[in-house]
Amino acid sequence: MRDRNVDVLLEGVRSGDRAALGRAITLIESTREADRSTAQDLLGALLPRSEGALRVGITGVPGVGKSTFIEVLGGRILEDDERRVAVLAVDPTSTRSGGSILGDKTRMRRLAGDPRVFIRPSPSGPIAGGVARRTREALLVCEAAGYDTIFVETVGVGQAETAVHGMVDYFLLLVLAGAGDELQGIKRGIVEMADGIAVTKAEGDNQAAAEAARRAFQSALQLFPPMPSGWEPPVHTCSAMTGAGLDEIWESILEYERQTRSSGYFEARRRQQARNWLHETLDERLIAALHADPDVSDVLADYEARVINGELTAAAAADAILAAYRRLP
Ligand code: GDP
Repeated sequence: MRDRNVDVLLEGVRSGDRAALGRAITLIESTREADRSTAQDLLGALLPRSEGALRVGITGVPGVGKSTFIEVLGGRILEDDERRVAVLAVDPTSTRSGGSILGDKTRMRRLAGDPRVFIRPSPSGPIAGGVARRTREALLVCEAAGYDTIFVETVGVGQAETAVHGMVDYFLLLVLAGAGDELQGIKRGIVEMADGIAVTKAEGDNQAAAEAARRAFQSALQLFPPMPSGWEPPVHTCSAMTGAGLDEIWESILEYERQTRSSGYFEARRRQQARNWLHETLDERLIAALHADPDVSDVLADYEARVINGELTAAAAADAILAAYRRLP
């Protein structure tokens, strides 16, 4: 029997009620055991409707202009009356700094005031402890509520990048023009994951530096192996202040969507992401189950000491710990 609350939420989400959507995501983010099963009931019921939207990941170091970019680009996208935009965030720094991406909605004042927009700050907590899972589930709920363009914003910290890359169709890296060494400080892995790069704040005195950075990234990308999508990631310059470059970036993202949908890559990437999602969840659950068991943790402490003292190899100890785990009822 489904909880009556689930039915009420379901109806609210499906009819596009933003308050219901907010409550559904709060339920998903809850760490209470009872809420977890209710949340899974809700997600299970929504799943068949969660398709069709375009998911765009936006990453870059704090201050690069992510929120401003989404604010201005989102405004342009909404010039098409049919579009509805959701903005979610994955911010592994939010527990440390006390603040969070999008925590301050004033940076997206225009979007926040539009009834066709839903904005959700990052859930708090360590990334490995489920921030990515909760964001992925929030994404499904947004799609079920009829949002067709979903931005997932994240800061330039490796683990969050990989997690967001694993849940979006297009991954856009925003970079700043530096003093000649643009590629420094940005991990190669992140550049390699990008389906597109945009050098921000390309206006006024910064225009020439931005153009130089664009060329530097463009030549750096040529050294990377071709992407499995067959897409060659473009490097743009843009300015959220003047609006320059934003239409080109959006047009390029839509072109990517057209190309990959017709080649079948779009669907293949989603299927691969779903498969990875299952395996990551399974790994997480297995490890949690292992560590949650008091008997196993006793055995574990014992074997840990033996490995530290050089009496056993890690492999032999792991086998013994797993054997102890399997013997448990
Ligand atoms: P985030 O931390 O990556 O989300 O960056 P924000 O969107 O908060 O922007 C950081 C700062 O850069 C803010 O002071 C913005 O006003 C400024 N900014 C954002 N986009 C532009 C731009 O296109 N040109 C200029 N000159 N400043 C910008």
